Amino acid sequence: MNVRALFNTLGTRSYSLPIVILYVTSGCNLKCVMCSYRDPHPNELSLAEIRDLAEDLRALGLRHIVYSGGEPLVRKDFPEIVRCFSGLQVRQTILTNGLLLEKRMREVDGFFDEVIVSIDGPNPLIHNSIRWIPRPTPSNWWWMTASTRAPLIK
Ligand code: SF4
Repeated sequence: MNVRALFNTLGTRSYSLPIVILYVTSGCNLKCVMCSYRDPHPNELSLAEIRDLAEDLRALGLRHIVYSGGEPLVRKDFPEIVRCFSGLQVRQTILTNGLLLEKRMREVDGFFDEVIVSIDGPNPLIHNSIRWIPRPTPSNWWWMTASTRAPLIK
């Protein structure tokens, strides 16, 4: 724990920024029934803006960055975004629907402290019907439930 984080525990005032949830895109590769995220917003932060933001957050003593969306992995430059924060020595978490983890795993391998995969319901049929996954297959489910395996984690 750094000194500023230690001071956070001593009173009601914050001396460092404990956590930021960064919505990297509102685009998504699914159409879940309970959600309206679909397409990227035209004014989403560019990679250059996110680099600047990372520097600003470093100055504020950021300790934990959480990537959310939409689906963060639909952004082609997501690995570069993760690299902006990997030099800051902060905890990194991705919230994902899991569908692109297998395809993009090599690009983001080793960056994360946590990979949180959304699962709706107790079986593939319910999960896939809520998430409008076109061809409900057990392999989707297997991948989602197994995708938090070690290689993605630091
Ligand atoms: S995967 Fe997440 S962001 Fe995408 S539609 Fe479903 S709930 Fe919304």
